Amino acid sequence: MYQIIDGKKISQEIKDELKEKVAGLKEQGKNVALAVIQVGNDPASSVYVNNKKKACAYIGIESLAYELPEETTEQELVELVEKLNADDKVNGILVQLPLPKHINEETIIQTISPKKDVDGFHMQSVGALCVGAKGYVSCTPLGIIELLKRSGIEIAGKHCVVIGRSNIVGKPMALLLLRENGTVTVCHSRTQDLKEITGQADILVVAIGKPKFVDETYVKEGAVVIDVGIHRNEQNKLCGDVDFDRVAPHTSAITPVPGGVGPMTIAMLMNNCVSSVE
Ligand code: NAD
Repeated sequence: MYQIIDGKKISQEIKDELKEKVAGLKEQGKNVALAVIQVGNDPASSVYVNNKKKACAYIGIESLAYELPEETTEQELVELVEKLNADDKVNGILVQLPLPKHINEETIIQTISPKKDVDGFHMQSVGALCVGAKGYVSCTPLGIIELLKRSGIEIAGKHCVVIGRSNIVGKPMALLLLRENGTVTVCHSRTQDLKEITGQADILVVAIGKPKFVDETYVKEGAVVIDVGIHRNEQNKLCGDVDFDRVAPHTSAITPVPGGVGPMTIAMLMNNCVSSVE
């Protein structure tokens, strides 16, 4: 029988722990504040931003909302980020992606002070992760490490295979697994014999961005499978990059979609905000 890794439950535990920490910080006169910037009104982004605001409210983090019109220029956004960088009352800055096409995302990410880069996307944060120094770590892969640890799954010495090499998931995931002493292989769109490699994984992390791409033929019997994908199928139901029904019986543990990796991303964002004050 396989274990379903319950991201909803684990993320709730983390949020409750953070709530207590924030209460403790408040007793010491320390406030935690997160600036959340959204440009335009992309409906998916609005849902994510609202979820982040709700999580802040639950934990006791002050959320400062900046809802800017679609026509906002890159220069105006840079100026706002610089103003927030200089504001001692703001601990974290989050710019909801994607940004409208006329704004260069990389320029904005690199404008955020690494001290307030709670998304962990700044080059300095990524470099720190690379050399094992202190810094913010991208929330989704950080959440996956937390899911594994809190589910009692050992990473050290295990062959960890990551499908995907994006800057926000695949690459930081590989670096974090390496930091946890896993033996890491990264697969991507130019990888040959993908099944041959994924079939050797003790822990398989799938961040390929293709609905139900991974079936049981990619998975070693008894492996741990982490599904990062989020898609809506024809019936408007959520599904992942892994075909859960076909893969689950062959695993020892697996994350579902929804209720696996997704809820952890926000919990780790909140964690990064609190640690910015601690
Ligand atoms: P991406 O499109 O940037 O990256 C996909 C990666 O898959 C690429 O590196 C590419 O090389 C690789 N790939 C594509 N085709 C391949 C193939 N045939 N064989 C092997 N590798 C292949 O996507 P992303 O931003 O990393 O996101 C991946 C998925 O995770 C998406 O479904 C996204 O919606 C989801 N996601 C979820 C969360 C969350 O909070 N749960 C956060 C971020 C992303």
